[in-house]
Amino acid sequence: MTSNLSTIAAHAGSDPQGQHGAVNTPVYRASTILFPTLAALEHASATPFEGVRYGRNGTPTTFAFEQAIAAMEGGCGAVSLPSGASAVFVALLSVGARAGDHLLVADNVYAPTRNFCDRALAASGVETTYFDPRIGSGIDALIRPTTRAIVFESPGSITFEICDVPAFVAAAKPRGIVTIIDNTWATPVFFRPLDHGVDISVMAATKYVVGHSDAMLGVISCRDQARWETVKRTAMLYGYCAGPDEAYLGLRGLRSMPARLVQHQATGLQLAEWLQTQSEVTRVLHPALPGDPGHALWKRDFTGASGLFGIVLAPVSRAALAAFVDGLAIFGMGWSWGGHESLIVPYLRPPTRTAVPWTEPGFLLRIHAGLEDAGDLRRDLEAGFERLRKAA
Ligand SMILES: *Cc1c(COP(=O)(O)O)cnc(C)c1O
Repeated sequence: MTSNLSTIAAHAGSDPQGQHGAVNTPVYRASTILFPTLAALEHASATPFEGVRYGRNGTPTTFAFEQAIAAMEGGCGAVSLPSGASAVFVALLSVGARAGDHLLVADNVYAPTRNFCDRALAASGVETTYFDPRIGSGIDALIRPTTRAIVFESPGSITFEICDVPAFVAAAKPRGIVTIIDNTWATPVFFRPLDHGVDISVMAATKYVVGHSDAMLGVISCRDQARWETVKRTAMLYGYCAGPDEAYLGLRGLRSMPARLVQHQATGLQLAEWLQTQSEVTRVLHPALPGDPGHALWKRDFTGASGLFGIVLAPVSRAALAAFVDGLAIFGMGWSWGGHESLIVPYLRPPTRTAVPWTEPGFLLRIHAGLEDAGDLRRDLEAGFERLRKAA
């Protein structure tokens, strides 16, 4: 019908006439589903992935959400999960790696993803090699006969390196290796991994999809039908299901996600450009800035940038850092991102890296540009730098 993401977001997965004319599919709370006849019960048993049969398998609300996400990602189907983390873990488990198998995981992935590999998968004998996210086609040399998946995040959500996704796909595809991306940062609005040949795209819908910092939700989109069935079967095997209220909030949020992201992008870039001119800041980590090491790849593959980026401060005391962040009036300090409000979070310890050590001496801070006025946000940071200078 259209390939325009705003139009898809506004309509995908909706069935007003199936819902008494209501525009968005309402919240269906259900565990038991009743079947009117033996034939209907039999049909449901024979087609476990189709239709509404038991609450854990999905309700019209979760199905509508999954349909809408699959349409936006350009996939065959999607599976909703109770959190972004569970979505990442189910995607990893769906690969079916066994003792002796091997995974390649980018060094900059979300910390719980790393934990899952180092604890859960390692305990069952699956070995993980972390690689430089900027390795590009050098990934070839790391592939073993036992490699089952290449897992990456582009950009990483703390240090913002961009991966050469087509190079990873080119290395994986001929060997039957599954490619998995965490696409939470870009969302399909700015990058559609499945169009680039990636097999599985995962999002913490908690972030931009829900968009208002009030629900936990994850979603996995698959490039082909067989993969979707494997992922769905894996989610069922572990007993995971997304709650209908959360799926509803995700569905509601994604309707406005393209419009919100345009604003997040503009404000984020404005702040990033201004931060580059501040003497307290030694580096701004934002792939849409022309000087960024990932800029060329970002420009080649992405259609935009969301509102999340990083800065590295010139070395200052912890007291000076506290003076900067404690007095901020608009920026909140907290984990997560993707909501309507601006956030800043300092990393007091350097990010865990085993392939490429993190060597920046100053504090690393992550900023989420929310939907507030960009000038107000800049003034909030400006006052913060003034306090920092006084405390230094
Ligand atoms: C937040 C986040 C997750 C996990 O999502 P939750 O919903 O918090 O479990 C996964 N990946 C990235 C990149 C994230 O930022």
